[in-house]
Amino acid sequence: MKILKELSRKEFKAKFGSEDQCLDYLSATKWSEKYSCRKCKNEQFSSGKKKYNRRCSRCGYDESPTSHTLFHKMKFGIENGFEMAYDIVSSKKGASSIWLAERFGVKQTTAWLFRRKVQEAMKSSEQFPLQDEVHVDEFEIGTPQKGEQGRSKSEKKIRIVIALEYRNGKPGRGYAKVIDDYSSKSLKTIFDVHIHKDAKITTDGWSGYAPLKKEYPHFEQKLSNKGQNFKMLHIQIRNFKNWLRGVHSYCHESYINQYIQEYFYRFNRLNFRTTILEKLLNRMIVHPPITYKSIKCNAT
Ligand SMILES: [Zn+2]
Repeated sequence: MKILKELSRKEFKAKFGSEDQCLDYLSATKWSEKYSCRKCKNEQFSSGKKKYNRRCSRCGYDESPTSHTLFHKMKFGIENGFEMAYDIVSSKKGASSIWLAERFGVKQTTAWLFRRKVQEAMKSSEQFPLQDEVHVDEFEIGTPQKGEQGRSKSEKKIRIVIALEYRNGKPGRGYAKVIDDYSSKSLKTIFDVHIHKDAKITTDGWSGYAPLKKEYPHFEQKLSNKGQNFKMLHIQIRNFKNWLRGVHSYCHESYINQYIQEYFYRFNRLNFRTTILEKLLNRMIVHPPITYKSIKCNAT
């Protein structure tokens, strides 16, 4: 079997190494179907103020290839943005914002904000629920809380429910979600969005799962037998925890879901590694811009 490789850094640089190449890609992707003026819907244009801009021939509205995308008003060069996205999707251990800030010579908040934008584009479409065999389990992670000055940091437990698919005995795709507690109502949130009604579901013996059997006819509860019955799932949980420890330095729990999304975006595309970057860039191009203000909680 041919092993699909990610784009090497050299290949990446050859394709997206310059500002021109990135803008050209943005413009070609953004207007791939046809150009239509955002103000007046006119479909004729001429070149705008800058190279790659398009100017409406009727109302004169001048649009850059980055506006109305997640690359809007980038502070550190579009080619660096593309490379950061490349680092985020392809680095094995994951790219933390501290690491990215150092590498690109930007402030950590700048790297963090851009990383959040990338994560925004990685959100699941929720259109392709897990099928075949699906194993579901819950686990906890400790996330450091910011203490007052001089005080040691405390940890807060965050509960997560995870679902992993098996097709022909091999692990397929997966999803996870932060939940408030292990009640049926909370556990159900991952079932509703990510698990197909016909899936053959296996969980441990926890009573919170029992009421869900009504909606999922092929549902079995098994004793975990100290993890022996859910070996693969536990390996995946461990991998996720290790990855999270490496990339996530913020205390606020509301961000954990974004990191989960990032992890599984990559995990679910292990067989599409050659196209993962372009697919992500394309999502970032069709996604409307977001601001620091709109996504910042209490973390700094
Ligand atoms: Zn117009």
